[in-house]
Amino acid sequence: MAFDPTALISDRAHAIDASGIRRAFDLAAKLDDPINLSIGQPHFDVPDAARHAASAAIDSGRNGYTPTQGAAPLLQRLGQHLANEFPATLGDQSGATPGPLGLPEDTGLLITSGVSGALVLALLACAQPGDEVVMPDPGFVMYGHLTRMAGATPVPIDTYPDFQLTADRVEAAITDHTKMVILNSPGNPTGVVTPPDQCRKLYDLCQDRGVLLVTDEIYDAFCYEPFASPAAVGRNLLILRGFSKTYGMTGWRLGYAAGPKPLIEQMAKLQQYTFVCAPSMVQAAGLAAIDVHMSAEIDAYRQKRDRVVERLTPHYTLTPPGGAFYAFPEVPKHLGMTGSQFIEHAINTKKLIVIPGSVFSQRDTHFRISFAADDDALERGLDALVEL
Ligand code: PMP
Repeated sequence: MAFDPTALISDRAHAIDASGIRRAFDLAAKLDDPINLSIGQPHFDVPDAARHAASAAIDSGRNGYTPTQGAAPLLQRLGQHLANEFPATLGDQSGATPGPLGLPEDTGLLITSGVSGALVLALLACAQPGDEVVMPDPGFVMYGHLTRMAGATPVPIDTYPDFQLTADRVEAAITDHTKMVILNSPGNPTGVVTPPDQCRKLYDLCQDRGVLLVTDEIYDAFCYEPFASPAAVGRNLLILRGFSKTYGMTGWRLGYAAGPKPLIEQMAKLQQYTFVCAPSMVQAAGLAAIDVHMSAEIDAYRQKRDRVVERLTPHYTLTPPGGAFYAFPEVPKHLGMTGSQFIEHAINTKKLIVIPGSVFSQRDTHFRISFAADDDALERGLDALVEL
């Protein structure tokens, strides 16, 4: 039999359809001087302190593997950070016996290759064929793909038009097969923030039904209204945090997961045989980054958010984003276009690149703009959207 690499590809790989985003990028590659509001990463650079720490780590020969769980100084610092942020559940008011990282003894912490790495490990550690994973629709594309890769079934919850993953909506979807519920606040692609009462209800619901609540808090720093986390309610959940967005370090691959020790131990075991560890010099950079104040950058993004809401609201149905750097307007119905048709129209007539809602959703009625762009590009993009 002749060698045919295409015949070797698994059903698992074939099942992933990356055509939505690729199509937007393919169209964009043909443009010169496009207005690009499609990118899911901050437009600011890594803070100096983090860059210097990374190069110092490289220059001083700290280039080997770190322990799978992560480098001790960063683990200590992150443990302290979480204990300070959630004193009642993870800190000194929790009443729990403290462990070596300053977190309760029953709570584990693992440094990962980005939040993506943590998601891979969490799904591989918990989900298997026959299991269901509840997630928001619209939602971050990776949740559904990774669930399928683990052999489990994604259960997207329609959250239109307010984009809240409420406990009521989730409860209606929980079955005997549900293993996990994934919450993402502030959310990609909508920027919507889950209020504290919903965090509590979701936590209680998941506790009650024996389901793992995974809270993807990668946009926690980008919150223009009070940030709330179910981690403030109790410890029986998995918190995922990252450095990519907060510090403009998307290419550096650093994140962490905190949660029930037995789960974190399984994730660490899987990390040992997959990623091995997060990049060592990046862990050194993360330790420096965590003390950098990003308030000027966050304030600038708040102003961009205000500008987006102010300019688009008269023309588009838009749920105002309370966080992240995305807005998710509806394609005006009178245009009679799907999200995908609108995106082609925007590229062809205005050289504007945004992402069709169908990439994140079973519906094709909306589109995502990223306002992580300089003011000039953002203003040109908003002009184009108003004209469209
Ligand atoms: N979760 C969400 C909601 C995201 O938007 C992203 C990045 N786009 C990630 C996780 C993964 O981020 P990283 O792997 O860079 O930490």
